[in-house]
Amino acid sequence: MHDLLFRGARVIDGSGSPSRLADVAVEGGLIVDIREASDPGRPAAARQVVACDGRVLAPGFIDVHTHDDALMLARAPLDQAHPKLSQGVTTVVTGNCGLSLAPLDAGDGRDLPAPLNLLEREAFRFASMAAYLNALAAQPPVCNVAALLGHTSLRVKHLPDLEREATDAQAEAMASDVGAALRQGAWGLSTGVFYPPARAATTQELIAVARPLGPAGGLLTMHIRDDAAHIEAALEEAFEVGRGSNAPLVISHHKVSGQANHGRSTRTLALIEAASLQQDVCLDCYPYDAGSTMLIPDRVHLSREVLVTWSSAEPAAAGRSLFQMAKERGLTPQAMAEQLVPAGVVTFSMDEADVRRIMSHPLAMIGSDGLPGDPHPHPRLWGSFPRVLGRYARHHGLFPLETAVRKMTAWPAARFGLDRATPQRAARGRIQPGWAADLVLFDADRVLDRADYATPSQPSSGIDAVYLAGVLAAERGLTVNAHAGRALRRVG
Ligand SMILES: [Zn+2]
Repeated sequence: MHDLLFRGARVIDGSGSPSRLADVAVEGGLIVDIREASDPGRPAAARQVVACDGRVLAPGFIDVHTHDDALMLARAPLDQAHPKLSQGVTTVVTGNCGLSLAPLDAGDGRDLPAPLNLLEREAFRFASMAAYLNALAAQPPVCNVAALLGHTSLRVKHLPDLEREATDAQAEAMASDVGAALRQGAWGLSTGVFYPPARAATTQELIAVARPLGPAGGLLTMHIRDDAAHIEAALEEAFEVGRGSNAPLVISHHKVSGQANHGRSTRTLALIEAASLQQDVCLDCYPYDAGSTMLIPDRVHLSREVLVTWSSAEPAAAGRSLFQMAKERGLTPQAMAEQLVPAGVVTFSMDEADVRRIMSHPLAMIGSDGLPGDPHPHPRLWGSFPRVLGRYARHHGLFPLETAVRKMTAWPAARFGLDRATPQRAARGRIQPGWAADLVLFDADRVLDRADYATPSQPSSGIDAVYLAGVLAAERGLTVNAHAGRALRRVG
């Protein structure tokens, strides 16, 4: 007898093909059988039967762009909403934008420059990727974790002077760490030359550090050097690093910032498309027209509004408009920003038409880029996936629901290699016999984000149940099992 049977579900299998009414059976953590409602051979019983009544059963969502490295080490309280599980997310990719906890042990009191402080300082205690993954294995996380290694973390570890390009020996040492992490189970390398600690890195440094990716089959995700006036050159650099390291490339949270650049996504997407004919490249994006990161004073002019989320210099500024504060004090916005750093902000810098054009592009997958350590986070932390399903697919009709689900399941799984099973781990990202029973049951008519800029830590509606390897992890938005996830190792 099967462990679990989903009866009468509208199955969206992740591939992008049309949904169908079917029963789905689960055994030993795997999907074992899928039968159309009219099939006389459909299983009659199971240890537990879930009456789906036409609700959607989809593969658990894969959040390809997170900064959840520390969040996954934290205990998730039961009977409360969790930012990831409550959205239907079952796997997170950590270590993006060049920032990863491993391999950086800051127990020696080392100074951690921004933006590493977007992660929790106390969590920098893993001298190797193996140590990080072992910690997750010792106390299983709330979601599955696929970890990337961050180039900025490597720079902080190996370079005494971050204002300079790495010497050959330093690049060699960083590349050696990349090779080791890949052997220990990391999925690839991320870079963030947009940020001060990595700005001095040249294209050649990036290629040298990324070189172990190609032979090992690891992937490269890049927060590119500029998303405003010089975005085309920044994309060209990313393509060059992808080619130079022979690694599949993901352009992180692709967006175009600054009013002067609105509409420019027609050009950037054409460039990415053209590159995709020569090399393996795709992109991730979040469904909002505002970004969020550390406050960089000389970039505030790119935004029509800047919301302060935290400020070490002036904690009372959290939740306030930077432009309003500047006006009150008779300062320019940049001068105001100089007074608030170090700080975090939400920046309203994008055009909605660009957001939609990028999100609907066939190469685009969904990643939240949420910052769980932020006291007043961007709502993307809690709302990204239901927002794509409810607001963009259902309400605006930007694409069919099946396409939306594909962008969060089978497509990212294929890009990251999560769809390839190893002896230790099943394939993920589709509803298919033999694949992991990471599943989300949701109501297509009700699914919607509720988090907004004023009240960002709000669970979404319509995500009825979330399963990891056949184990119920969240029900009606509340966590019922905080340890159903596991550290997914790419190899070994
Ligand atoms: Zn980033």
